[in-house]
Amino acid sequence: MLTLPSPEVVQETALRWKREAKIAFVPTMGCLHEGHLSLVRRAKELAPKVIVSIFVNPLQFGQGEDFEKYPRTLDADAEKLEAEGVDMLFVPTKDDLYPPHFSSRLQVTGLTDSLEGVFRPGHFDGVATVCLKLFQITQSDFAIFGEKDFQQLRVIQQLTADMNLPLLIVGHPTVREQDGLAMSSRNRYLSPEERERAGKLPQVLREIRSTFQTHPEFPIGEILKPARKTLEAAGFKLDYLTIASARDMKPVTDTTLANYIHEPRIFVAGRLGSTRLIDNQSLEEVSS
Ligand code: AMP
Repeated sequence: MLTLPSPEVVQETALRWKREAKIAFVPTMGCLHEGHLSLVRRAKELAPKVIVSIFVNPLQFGQGEDFEKYPRTLDADAEKLEAEGVDMLFVPTKDDLYPPHFSSRLQVTGLTDSLEGVFRPGHFDGVATVCLKLFQITQSDFAIFGEKDFQQLRVIQQLTADMNLPLLIVGHPTVREQDGLAMSSRNRYLSPEERERAGKLPQVLREIRSTFQTHPEFPIGEILKPARKTLEAAGFKLDYLTIASARDMKPVTDTTLANYIHEPRIFVAGRLGSTRLIDNQSLEEVSS
């Protein structure tokens, strides 16, 4: 596996590869777990050349967020990627991607007006900006994003369409722990006791899905109120627990689920102690 820090060398190498092979790309912030590795495996199915980036992007972290303490485990990450047969690991520094004269920002509107966009102002501008740069540098034909960060996936799909980028954005299902908790680099912040209580999050999402499927005539507010209570009783300080359409990411409140919502999903974000967790789930999916 080639490990390269320089955007210029990565782009040069990718342009050479591209003459003969398609390239699939997986952007990450490192501290890799099975969720990331499932994206890598999908990438390997899609193209003969696979590039993974590890970059904790300062542009997408707000004030008071965990940029400084975000876990960095580069050696272990590189070993895992090598074992998966990744062709290139791109590990730029902050200065490599944002030299002193850097002065551009991308903004995707609409899809970013709700959910994470409200609670993390500027977050998606940082995500969109770094992704466009990474797509240009890696010259990728495919980029794989997890549904764990569903709004991010939708924002990147929109960006790609709006900017006529010649690549396909591929969404990949969330990989979960045994109790259903979505795998996340941030789970390691949880104390053992918080980790146990965190299992309530996917459990509540599953319950909401099951209510939706058995009682679509229930008003949404009536479904969400007890769910919110359960999570608060488990110690969550919720930012949101919302049903929204996957198409426009607009929260749906004053209706019943029976009134047709395009691709309804339940989205949740909240803090357990000092750890912020997010999750989401399609309401149409058959229960597993
Ligand atoms: P991150 O390193 O958190 O920026 O995540 C990098 C990519 O991995 C993003 O596309 C995430 O949505 C995806 N990802 C993170 N956790 C999971 C998971 N549990 N299952 C599937 N994809 C994930």
